[in-house]
Amino acid sequence: MKTVRSMVLVSNDPLSQARGAQAVYQRLEQEIAARGLTDEISLMTVDDVGRHDTVPMVIVYPEAVIYGPVKPDDVAMLVEEHLYKGRIASGLLAPARELTGRIAWLSARKGTLPAEQRIVLERAGLIDPESIEDYIIHDGYVALGKVLTQMKPTDVIAELEQSGLQGRGGAGFPTGLKWKFVSKAPGDRKYVICNADESEPGTFKDRLVLEGDPHTILEAMTIAAYAVGASEGYIYVRGEYVLAQQRLKKAIEQARALNLLGENIFGSAFSFDIHVHAGAGAYICGEETALIESIEGKRGEPRSRPPYPTTHGLWGKPTLVNNVETLANITAIIRNGAAWFRKFGTPKSPGTKVYTILGNVNVTGLIEVPMGITLREVIAIYGKGMKNGSSLSLAQTGGSSGSIIPASLQDTPMDFESFGKAGVSLGSGALLICDDTTCVVDLAKVLLNFFRNESCGKCTPCRIGTERAYQILANICEGTGTRNDLAQLTMLADSLTALSNCGLGQTAATPIRDMFKHFSGEVDAHIQLKVCPAGVCSMSGRRL
Ligand code: SF4
Repeated sequence: MKTVRSMVLVSNDPLSQARGAQAVYQRLEQEIAARGLTDEISLMTVDDVGRHDTVPMVIVYPEAVIYGPVKPDDVAMLVEEHLYKGRIASGLLAPARELTGRIAWLSARKGTLPAEQRIVLERAGLIDPESIEDYIIHDGYVALGKVLTQMKPTDVIAELEQSGLQGRGGAGFPTGLKWKFVSKAPGDRKYVICNADESEPGTFKDRLVLEGDPHTILEAMTIAAYAVGASEGYIYVRGEYVLAQQRLKKAIEQARALNLLGENIFGSAFSFDIHVHAGAGAYICGEETALIESIEGKRGEPRSRPPYPTTHGLWGKPTLVNNVETLANITAIIRNGAAWFRKFGTPKSPGTKVYTILGNVNVTGLIEVPMGITLREVIAIYGKGMKNGSSLSLAQTGGSSGSIIPASLQDTPMDFESFGKAGVSLGSGALLICDDTTCVVDLAKVLLNFFRNESCGKCTPCRIGTERAYQILANICEGTGTRNDLAQLTMLADSLTALSNCGLGQTAATPIRDMFKHFSGEVDAHIQLKVCPAGVCSMSGRRL
């Protein structure tokens, strides 16, 4: 009988592939075979290792040693040293990412948890995402078993309310309360929808969960369905996420085969099934009512609210809509309990948050960190500092619908409460870090260009307002802006906020407001001096 003594995982996400992961994998096969180790070593690929600085990565278990970035020519030494002689190939190790000081405290406030423990990405990078057996070995479907055998639907909702989990789609609405609304809504049929239409520019955290741990979403949706009384679920996946769709469909087939989806799950009276619905590329379909319209086969336009989906959702029935990151917290909360979850993050924003780090930092990529970490800490620890020794000038939190903040706010804890008090949106979790080579007026113009293109056109303030605001900003960038333009922009921002039908139009005003609030000097330089301090806008070509 074959006895496997080591498991070797090779990162296989798109970036790893682009950097030669396949060649590394093939060299590993050859070198392992050359030393007669094929029967002792299990070689496989994984996605979502969560680090972009060190891919392709090779992870060796049971020691959990991480090598990276690994080149094909490194493989012979790695196999010889680690797999043949049993010594760590220290020259190939990936640099460690450690949490220290205040961050370690935030990660495990009571000092009982390892500092780098992940919740949302707990299995991403550790399991074969196409193997339900691998998922089950790593505590998969334990939470569902617990729910169906030991808990009433009200117990599940109570546990979730006690955990303090808030929706990770941006608004931060209490998840347990949303589940309670749907459970109490009258209806002969109810639905659960996973919003996986991750279209926010710069955001790819949900994709990594879907590709790296698809069963956790199925399990969480099934638990949600049991709690709220739903019998059918949909995962609305961004159309471009082809691999995620393939893996979700495969995971659904595997779960059905083991009666973890379908009729009488676990032999209980509870039945539930899930369908995958691919979007067609419209940003607005990330808005939950537009998403519902799209599933119903209609044009993806937001509905007027109220009524809300919790009572009048898909096909007019009570519907629970949660995003991927929110759902990815559920199984860990059920397995470990609400009190365990509350040990992470801050008292009013418990848990972790997954961020994508982009822009002028030395290391970009994906991190899962405790709620309450500051931007300064993210840049210093995970971004390894600003590029070329530059300084932080501004950051955009949360993708296009997030806020633009100045460097003076980099010590504000990134949690719902602290950011709310500072008038900043946590948004989707994309952190765009910019030095003084980024012009805030140009950035606002780019964002308004995005919003005018993505506006569904249903309501006038958004359809016309985003177009007009873009034109004014373009004029300012070209050096033809006037004081009157600033007054018009302010009026447009007020109209967008007050009169738009949905969040897209309302958040389109955010870049304009933030620009005036935090960067009035830069705006004045464009209007009065006809100079772009960052040297970006075409009128100047020089810097102050
Ligand atoms: Fe459509 Fe914009 Fe109106 Fe939203 S605010 S419904 S995106 S036109």
